[in-house]
Amino acid sequence: MNLRRVGAVTMVATVFAAANAVSALADESRILAGAAAAGQEVSNSDPRSTQESRPSFAAWIAALKAEARTREIGESTLAAALGGLRLNRRTLALESRQPEFVTPVGAYVAALTGKRALDAGREKRRQHAALLRRIEAAYGVPARYLLAIWRLESNYGANFGTFPVVEALATLAYAGTPKRRPFWRRQLFGALQIVDRGHAPLGRLVGSWAGAMGHTQFIPTTYLDHAVDFDGDGRRDLWGSLPDVFASTANYLRKSGWQPGLPFGWEARLPAGFDFSQAHIGESKTVAEWQALGVRRADGKPLPEIPRPVSLIVPSGWDGPVFLVTQNYRAILRYNNAAAYALTVGLLAERLEGQGNLVARWPAGVRPLSRAEKAELQRKLMTLGFDPGPVDGKVGPDTRKAIRAFQKRAGKPADGYANHNLLEAVRKAVSR
Ligand code: CA
Repeated sequence: MNLRRVGAVTMVATVFAAANAVSALADESRILAGAAAAGQEVSNSDPRSTQESRPSFAAWIAALKAEARTREIGESTLAAALGGLRLNRRTLALESRQPEFVTPVGAYVAALTGKRALDAGREKRRQHAALLRRIEAAYGVPARYLLAIWRLESNYGANFGTFPVVEALATLAYAGTPKRRPFWRRQLFGALQIVDRGHAPLGRLVGSWAGAMGHTQFIPTTYLDHAVDFDGDGRRDLWGSLPDVFASTANYLRKSGWQPGLPFGWEARLPAGFDFSQAHIGESKTVAEWQALGVRRADGKPLPEIPRPVSLIVPSGWDGPVFLVTQNYRAILRYNNAAAYALTVGLLAERLEGQGNLVARWPAGVRPLSRAEKAELQRKLMTLGFDPGPVDGKVGPDTRKAIRAFQKRAGKPADGYANHNLLEAVRKAVSR
């Protein structure tokens, strides 16, 4: 028996047996949030293993202060925010964390769109109905999507995170993964600006390990660029003002391309022999073009005629639910660049309206691959004579193409989807 497989099943069982199942997943979603903030997957390199010479933290802070002065950040802010600052080891551990097991998309969806989440969401909608209607009228983003994001980001305001944001961002900018340090440095200056311009006192800047703050977890530059003062008190308060929170989130989605009147997408049904090379977020067509290829709504209802960009995504392989997704799904991805996140937001939102129930079932007992496993898959596909592109632990177009070629040769549905069963089949083919 394969121990890794047993580990995955046990992990899922443990997660769901635990009373804090949802908070465990929420922790995962904050990890995803941090990764999305940087516009890339969570890095797997350990910053502490990098051989490099760099200044002491104190010398680095001194240089940072000098640059902050050129950005017109005041002395009192610098003294209060950076005086006596220490490295936060927990932040570094979370940035470099590489989970051995990756939660399947279906598990996220199930844990975060169940009865408890729906009951809580409907209660919040009832409490804030008048405000949410005003926000929808102003920004064109329906209440159900704002509620779903609020749920995933902070469990309706119950959990903003516990990290002092300046300390976390300074730690990451100094000692985080080298290629991400410029990103963290920008966020750090953003946080200092928020304090210096009087948007929020330093003590308010508590959030996720990646510096995401408040009810809907804005990182500092997103705050500076997109937060709005909806209640008119002169402050953009994402910690204490729900009018500001909902309006800021709606404003950010709108600026990210949100189209009023459209859902995130629809569950779809594919014809036999469908060519899965077209099924990824990078490929977009009109609804009419998808229909000409035989793609239909899973529930049999007609699709609206909308122009590009509509993409087809296959989040858990050919035998799980597949979706046609609109540019509103893309807007949610701008908020947090993880398919599991965007899909969970979309399905939770639609279920709050009694929609979004799936026809197909999420495949049981399969799990996606960790980054290390994806790299192993790429190496083994090369051994078998396929060309998955560079071994980088990311499944991009080249790797999907190589997987489809492998699947075709094996006489399997060629969906290009990498999961643990596929890796097992590739391992067997190599050892044959
Ligand atoms: Ca305000």
